[in-house]
Amino acid sequence: MDYSPSIKELSHFPFLKKAQDHARGRFSSLDSLLSDARGQALVDRALDRLQDAITPKKTFTPDVTGTPEEEIAAYAMARIIVSCVNDRQLIDRLTRYEAERAYYFLVREEDWNSNYQQEDGEYSRLCVALAAELGIRITQDRMPLVDYVELVAPLHEDRFHLVNRRIEKGFVAIRKDERYELVRERVRLLLRRDLPHKVPAALCEQLSPRVAALKKAYQEQMLQQFGSIEESAFPPCMQALITALTAGTNLTHAGRFSLTSFLHTIGMDLNGIAALYARSPDFNPDMTMYQVEHITGRGGSGTEYTAPACAAMRTTGLCVHRDLLCEKVSHPLSYYKVKKRDASKKGPKKAENNPDGTPPASPA
Ligand code: SF4
Repeated sequence: MDYSPSIKELSHFPFLKKAQDHARGRFSSLDSLLSDARGQALVDRALDRLQDAITPKKTFTPDVTGTPEEEIAAYAMARIIVSCVNDRQLIDRLTRYEAERAYYFLVREEDWNSNYQQEDGEYSRLCVALAAELGIRITQDRMPLVDYVELVAPLHEDRFHLVNRRIEKGFVAIRKDERYELVRERVRLLLRRDLPHKVPAALCEQLSPRVAALKKAYQEQMLQQFGSIEESAFPPCMQALITALTAGTNLTHAGRFSLTSFLHTIGMDLNGIAALYARSPDFNPDMTMYQVEHITGRGGSGTEYTAPACAAMRTTGLCVHRDLLCEKVSHPLSYYKVKKRDASKKGPKKAENNPDGTPPASPA
C-alpha cells in the first residue's frame, strides 16, 4: 500500500520523513526563530511535550492543540532540547513517549479512519504501511526472521523470545496486537539511535534559561520515583562494587563512575556518596569529593552522568552475580526500581538509612 498520509496524520507521526519534509521551510532558521514570539511559543510547545514525556502516567488525546506544522516543529525542538541537556534518561523518556504517542494514533487511526478500514480477512493496513516507512517488513500476520530478531533484542518479555514463536520458512508469526507493539518498538529504536544531536553550543546557551525549570522538575520527579534508598534492592553489580569498596579493594574508574552515578540518580546526596567511599581503607576525602562532584554535575562541566546500562556494564566487566531479575532488565536502575516496588508490595520491611542518606554498613 502506498502510504499518503494527510497533513493531520503527519502531525501524529512527526518522525516520518514526509512530515519533516512538509514542515521544512515553514519556519525561519533556528537562530532567528528563537528571537521572536513564534519561536518562543514553539519552545513552550516542545517543553510541554517533554513535560508529558517525564510524567509517569501518560494520557494521549486525539486532538492536538496547534497546527500540524507546529506539532511537527515541536517534536523536532524537543529533540534539540534533550540533545542540549544530554541526559541519557531524559533522552530515553522522550523517545519512549514519542513511540507511545505514535502507537496511540496508530491504533486509533485504524479504528476510526475509513481509509484504513479493512476488507474481509485483511487487517492493519496503516500498520503495514507505517512499518514499511520505518524500514521493517510486516505483512498481514508475520515478519521476516531477520527483521524480527533485530527488533525484539531489547524486549524482555518471554513471549517475544524466539523459542516461544512459530517460525516458518524464515518468517515469524505475529498477532495483530503484537504488530502494533513491534512498530512502536521500531519507532523508539529509530528515534533513540540518532540522539543526542550535535547542537551548536550557542543555541543550547540560548535555550538554557527556558530549559532550567524542566531540568528541575525532572530531577524532583526522579527523586520521588526512587523514594528512600534501600540497599537491599540494589542490583548485584552495585552490591558487588560496595562489597569491594568495603573490603578495601580499589575500584576501577569505571567501577567508581558506575556506582557514583547510580547512587546519585536514586537520590543519595553528595555527602552520603562520599561517606560510602569512606568505607574504603584508602579513602581520600578531597579526591573523593572531587570525583563525586564531577560525576554528579557539581563540577565544572555541569554535566550529570547517568549510570551505564547493563550492556555497558558487561563491556567493562562490572556485570557480576546476575540473578533472575537481571534477565528482565536492561539497566541497573530498572532493576532497582522493580525490586524495590516488588519488596514494597510484599510487605513493610524497610532498610533504615543513616541520616545522611547512606545505606547501613554491611554486617562485618
Ligand atoms: S544484568 Fe544489569 S543489573 Fe544485573 S548485574 Fe548485570 S549490570 Fe547489574
